[in-house]
Amino acid sequence: MAGERVLVVDDSLVYRDLLVNHVLTPNGYEPLTANDGESGLRIALREGPDLIIMDMQMPGMTGLQVLEALHQAGSEIPVIMMTLHGSEDLAVRAFRLGVKDYVIKPFDIEEMLIAMDRALTEVRLRRERDALTRTLEAERRQLEAVLTNTKEGILLVDDSDEDRIILANHAVCEAFNLESDGANRPLMEVVQDEVLIDVFQQAKAKAEIAHAELPLPDDRTFNANITPIQGVGRVAVMQDITYLKELDRMKSEFVSTVSHDLRSPLTSVKGFADLLPQVGQLNEQQAYFLEKIRSGVDTVTEMISDLLDLGRIEAEVRMDLEECDLGVIIEKVIAGQRNHAELKKQYLRMQIGPDLPSVLGNPVRLGQALSNLVSNAIKYTAEKGRISVIASREDGQAVIKIEDNGMGIPQQDLPHIFDKFYRVDRPETEGIIGSGLGLSIVKTIIEKHRGRIWVDSKMGVGTAFTIVLPSALEPPGTTGSKRSG
Ligand code: ATP
Ligand code: MG
Repeated sequence: MAGERVLVVDDSLVYRDLLVNHVLTPNGYEPLTANDGESGLRIALREGPDLIIMDMQMPGMTGLQVLEALHQAGSEIPVIMMTLHGSEDLAVRAFRLGVKDYVIKPFDIEEMLIAMDRALTEVRLRRERDALTRTLEAERRQLEAVLTNTKEGILLVDDSDEDRIILANHAVCEAFNLESDGANRPLMEVVQDEVLIDVFQQAKAKAEIAHAELPLPDDRTFNANITPIQGVGRVAVMQDITYLKELDRMKSEFVSTVSHDLRSPLTSVKGFADLLPQVGQLNEQQAYFLEKIRSGVDTVTEMISDLLDLGRIEAEVRMDLEECDLGVIIEKVIAGQRNHAELKKQYLRMQIGPDLPSVLGNPVRLGQALSNLVSNAIKYTAEKGRISVIASREDGQAVIKIEDNGMGIPQQDLPHIFDKFYRVDRPETEGIIGSGLGLSIVKTIIEKHRGRIWVDSKMGVGTAFTIVLPSALEPPGTTGSKRSG
């Protein structure tokens, strides 16, 4: 390796010359020289060269004395010594003082280069190892600083049965009031949050990413994403979404207020529009315009009542819950929607399993949710299509499927259809009236009932919404109401 610094200590100018000009410089080493033991020692201690090549027989301080002094100073610089023939006993003593190699004068250049290479190999390996250790240590420190200082909570557990904690950063300790980082202890022992434990298990069971919203003891809300990492375990990254939740609440409140205030002027527009024909005979064009006004007002009124409804449902912390017979609710919904289906010559049927469990809920709200889904199925299915509502018991829970063989929902729209005001924008949906609030009302209602809803759909084949509701007999807390995804 070029550039290594080699100190030559020899009183003989001939040998200093030979080493510097024929061994070191041509082979890329950087030479340092000393012409006696004292200065050799001084330079060695001051400059810390990579290797010392030293004559043992020098006037003044001998090579052996220099070695002893270096040894005492704790030096680890490898030394090659040069001796005259017949001083083998000296060599033995020198080796005890840590000399790496010796060459007998006169030596040839090749022989010296080989000895140097041997002595330096160890140094090189040690250097590489030290450099690697330093890099790893620096990277580890960087990573640690990032993990510790980031605002996001990071919680890593291993793959053992007890979910032992590998790392819990500062944000996690603070959020869950942990006294220590809980390293190497089972998650369940350290963190009391049921939803968090539950979602960690969910990610493990399904070996896929799981999400949850975690309400914290200090009234903040975290959004947690738990990702399985092969060969390591699972990591939860948690963001504080308190601010977003608050914004959402303010937005809903604003929408409710505005909708409410819009209602009365609309009622009078509608009232006066209804009165108009009574004042005098309208000609054909006037009647046509009036019809436009009425249908416009109807659409806006419906939208406002949806908005107000959504606001109300979202704000209902505790709904009035009673034991509900889903079969009865579904029958009513079907009866209410039958007309609409008949207008489109659609076949609307229901199938209610005999052992369908009753659920704890608000029958009006549940009916509203199912009506929205059935009315969507009718709306987004062509004439003579088939729509079915099938309710059954699975794993002790109530499962309701609303299926149609309609236009279907494009893959890229599926993640958004439960968002407020989201509507699929395609040639097929053109002319179908709606505000995009129906499904967000449905989802809010189902989640208020500790249930889950999801959709499967294929373009041109049909759509199926599935709702799972816990049975009224199930003890509360065994189904995560905060879960989604
Ligand atoms: P409204 O607020 O009047 O219900 P909407 O029906 O447009 O308006 P959502 O019920 O929230 O709104 O539905 C959102 C979108 O999802 C719809 O615009 C439609 O594109 C799509 N969609 C919902 N149900 C179905 C279905 N059964 N088949 C195909 N597309 C559907
Ligand atoms: Mg709808």
